Amino acid sequence: MATKHSNTKRIEGLDKNMWVVFSSMAADPSVVNLGEGFPDLPPPPYVKEALAKASAVDHIHQYTRVSGHPALVKALSQVYGKVYGRAIDPFKDVLVTVGGYGSLFCTILGLVEEGDEVIIIEPFFICYEPMVQMAGAKPVMIPLRLKPGKKSITSADWYLDPEELSSKFTSKTKAIIINTPNNPIGKVFTREELQMIADLCIKHDTLCFSDEVYEWLIYKGHQHIKIATLPGMWERTITIGSAGKTFGITGWRLGWSIGPEHLVKHLQTVMEHTAYSCPTPLQEAVAQGLLRDCALMGQPDCYFSSLAEELQDKRDRMASIVQAAGMTPVLPEGGYFMLVDVSPLNVDLSHMEDEFYDIKFVKWMIKEKKLAPMPATTFVGNELKKDFEKYIRFCFIKKDSTIDAAEVILKNLL
Ligand code: PMP
Ligand code: GLN
Repeated sequence: MATKHSNTKRIEGLDKNMWVVFSSMAADPSVVNLGEGFPDLPPPPYVKEALAKASAVDHIHQYTRVSGHPALVKALSQVYGKVYGRAIDPFKDVLVTVGGYGSLFCTILGLVEEGDEVIIIEPFFICYEPMVQMAGAKPVMIPLRLKPGKKSITSADWYLDPEELSSKFTSKTKAIIINTPNNPIGKVFTREELQMIADLCIKHDTLCFSDEVYEWLIYKGHQHIKIATLPGMWERTITIGSAGKTFGITGWRLGWSIGPEHLVKHLQTVMEHTAYSCPTPLQEAVAQGLLRDCALMGQPDCYFSSLAEELQDKRDRMASIVQAAGMTPVLPEGGYFMLVDVSPLNVDLSHMEDEFYDIKFVKWMIKEKKLAPMPATTFVGNELKKDFEKYIRFCFIKKDSTIDAAEVILKNLL
């Protein structure tokens, strides 16, 4: 029975966070950690230098503008003005937040009402479902399906069925959350797929929350398209970005929402009454980094594209290692994760506590083999868990020496 000491209904059932569970298992320094997504590569030197320089200025250590430090929102409007091909008002169309998480939180809490439905594409980044629950709304799941007859070779083999998606839209649908490139599959949605989603949003007059934190990490032959740039979508889309992903600085906890003033102002209200503002020196340094790379856009030295090139080799190497170990990788078109089908190995884990196979596999791998992936079932709702329990996820934004260590373990796995 609920007492005055009980949790609120809005957080009911949310107390077991899978990042916390698996990251603490992987924290042992003897474990090679390819689980939670963060680089062990150094951040670009000019970003670290910009932070040192910013920190030398006395007034930078105080609060700054609530919706975003002026230097940062101006830098974001320059970068995204180029990307969107439209003017982005730095003071009206942008909100700087505590990571991509903060952007998702302000978006969902600012725009989703109790009783609303929010469509979520599975597999999905884990926090979408709890945030929709905290807003009092109902998550409505739609799975990416594997093309019939295919054993997945690439993330492009996973698709949204237009009829199935259309059937999820009701009079209660407030928004759809999309994630391109997708975490954990690495799917980069094509223009046709985005157009199909956009047509439904327009037809049903719903909003679109587009999580594009991996927007720069696109591999050869693929193109990142912002759904907000399709006709009729700017005015109904909030796009989520992250400094953590852009510069490999996840610990700085900076992100942003870009969208039309009439929507962004509601996110700003949430920000004003929760985190208030983000750390000033960090915002100043990210602004300097963005300006540097904005000026270099289209050139080989631009970090937005050079990081993806560096990662392409790591992706290909990781896929070969996984294949040589007898498992089947799903080659991602974007992002820095790789889903891997472990079922060809037939590891017998029937002696372990009864849980989904991927959870047992990851626990076994961490404990017995000292290598940490993430289990794929953490990224899907209950109905899809059976389909995903043969997959694990590896993060490959790692030093060559870390990938070497993983290779040795995987070579001698069985
Ligand atoms: N969205 C996706 C798809 C992610 O993978 C992450 C990873 N953390 C986030 C949002 C949150 O980004 P941040 O670390 O900037 O809060
Ligand atoms: N986005 C990263 C991942 O998917 C970070 C995870 C997290 O939220 N802690 O692994």
